[in-house]
Amino acid sequence: MERTLSIIKPDGVARGIIGEVIKRLEINNLKIVAMKMLKMDTALAQGFYAVHKERPFFDSLTDFMTSGPVVVMVLEGENAITKYREIMGATDYREAAEGTIRKDFATDIEKNVVHGSDSPETAAFEISYFFNRFELIV
Ligand code: GDP
Repeated sequence: MERTLSIIKPDGVARGIIGEVIKRLEINNLKIVAMKMLKMDTALAQGFYAVHKERPFFDSLTDFMTSGPVVVMVLEGENAITKYREIMGATDYREAAEGTIRKDFATDIEKNVVHGSDSPETAAFEISYFFNRFELIV
């Protein structure tokens, strides 16, 4: 069993597709073991995306991520990290496979509806960034 961090980004929440995203997790046997809605401030978003701080889109990305509430979840399942990234689709929705969340709903390379951890190390950092051990269902 593996765990991964999922975020429904501000565009997904604003457009009313929280339920659609969660439905796709559930039908793919990704179990939600923690969940909350919050609005990030700049410091929280910059810390979360610290690996991207030298990228040209860093300020735009952190502005976007603080522009409205997000839904943050921890998902558990077999190969959860890879499986969830397959369900999300490629970062650029124009390159995402048919039937993926980003192909179906993203409007922009930045406003791409969902986030998912990309490795076990990243997942461990990202899960502990948002959740303490009392908030994780065992
Ligand atoms: P992910 O792991 O698929 O989310 O992709 P990355 O880790 O490479 O990028 C993190 C996030 O930054 C993406 O999900 C997008 O929201 C945003 N992003 C990535 N590339 C670009 C870009 O070229 N321009 C802008 N404006 N945003 C980007």
